Amino acid sequence: MINFSEMGFSETILENLKNEGYETPTAIQEQAIPVLLTGSDLLGVAQTGSGKTAAFSLPILQHLAKKSATEALGVPRVLILVPTRELASQILKSLEVYGKGLGIKSWAFFGGIKQAEQVRALKNGLDILVATPGRLLDLMEQGHIRLGKIEIFVLDEADRMLDMGFIDDINLIVEKLPEQKQTIFFSATMPDNVAGLSYDILNNPKRIDATPKSATVESISQRVIFCRRVDKFQLLKKILKEEDTELVIVFTKTKNMADKVREYLIHSRIPATVFHGDKDQQDREKALHNFKVGSFKVLIATDIAARGIDVQGVSHVINFELPLEAESYVHRIGRTGRAGKEGIAISFCDDSEKPILERILRLIKLKLPTETYTGTPEAPGKWLMDGPIRKVTPPTPGKSQEKSSYLDHSKRQRVVKEGEAKPKTHPGFKGKKKK
Ligand code: AMP
Repeated sequence: MINFSEMGFSETILENLKNEGYETPTAIQEQAIPVLLTGSDLLGVAQTGSGKTAAFSLPILQHLAKKSATEALGVPRVLILVPTRELASQILKSLEVYGKGLGIKSWAFFGGIKQAEQVRALKNGLDILVATPGRLLDLMEQGHIRLGKIEIFVLDEADRMLDMGFIDDINLIVEKLPEQKQTIFFSATMPDNVAGLSYDILNNPKRIDATPKSATVESISQRVIFCRRVDKFQLLKKILKEEDTELVIVFTKTKNMADKVREYLIHSRIPATVFHGDKDQQDREKALHNFKVGSFKVLIATDIAARGIDVQGVSHVINFELPLEAESYVHRIGRTGRAGKEGIAISFCDDSEKPILERILRLIKLKLPTETYTGTPEAPGKWLMDGPIRKVTPPTPGKSQEKSSYLDHSKRQRVVKEGEAKPKTHPGFKGKKKK
């Protein structure tokens, strides 16, 4: 194994890495750094948590440190394009840590916050721009950013960028970059559209794959629990109360469900916070901070919002609902087991989710251990309704013939509330009557 000190980094960078406690390069760093230091284009398949940020940031810093920083005043030389604000902030933080004392100036550009401060930073001169496509294009259109002197272009989490519909934006940005440059392309997965984009923008790249056996990190122990949809809430509570957990990220498919899970956990006296696109930047940062420092042990997140969250000490990722796309599973569970630490990923799977589970298993090329959970009668029904949470009066046990299904109860309530014909069937009615 090769060491950081044998890779040709400056003393300042080596000192910074030492201060961060990085002793040896991760697999992706060991492969990518020597290639990038030669100036070659790179196509890297690596998931989050593999250390890919340092894999591209360190050679960039080394490259910029070789030249006088004043040369760059007002002229950005490196562009790092990312899908989300959180990832942009995360990368900016890493650049600051790894590049401390080098005099290299970096800034992050993303929407959701006022432009003025970003424009001021540009006026003062920057070497590295870390940006999401939307805000970058806005600033370019207004003439605040010119990309004609970019020497290194990084496209990070390319698969996620395409999932989020950024393809046209990426093309517009790439058009404005100089022909002569180094391009670094990272993606956790390589479906056809991502491979196509990489082909278009890379020039004779070296390809490295840090995921030879499986798309998921080996240090994550994964398992699946089959259960009814209605029982997921109590199953979550049981795991949070009984398993030895540190910080836990719970994933849902929708913001609405994220809010419901939070309500349920708070109701069960488990401190939890949500992290999704409805929150503004400040709220999201606050939620993340409170989670990082342990004020809330559970963070409930949706896929898009969760990209780029890099929090140490996440012992568990729980997929309350499986994602619609198999690739998102890999991104989600990459929030635990980071930098070689052990992590646990638990996926709840109800009957309707079995086809997506099959797709996930095919993607990760692993057989996962499974369990089945049979719930106890509780009152989770109201959490499962489609709309916002409404107060539901639980049926009186023993009085009705409604057995214990609170889900049925809430469904009936909704049917009546929405003004549909009152079911003429007996109280065990479970849906609309066939005509
Ligand atoms: P990334 O995949 O870039 O999001 O990095 C995941 C985590 O690994 C971050 O918390 C980094 O600080 C950490 N990390 C990256 N490289 C190393 C290394 N060589 N040694 C120890 N930790 C690292």
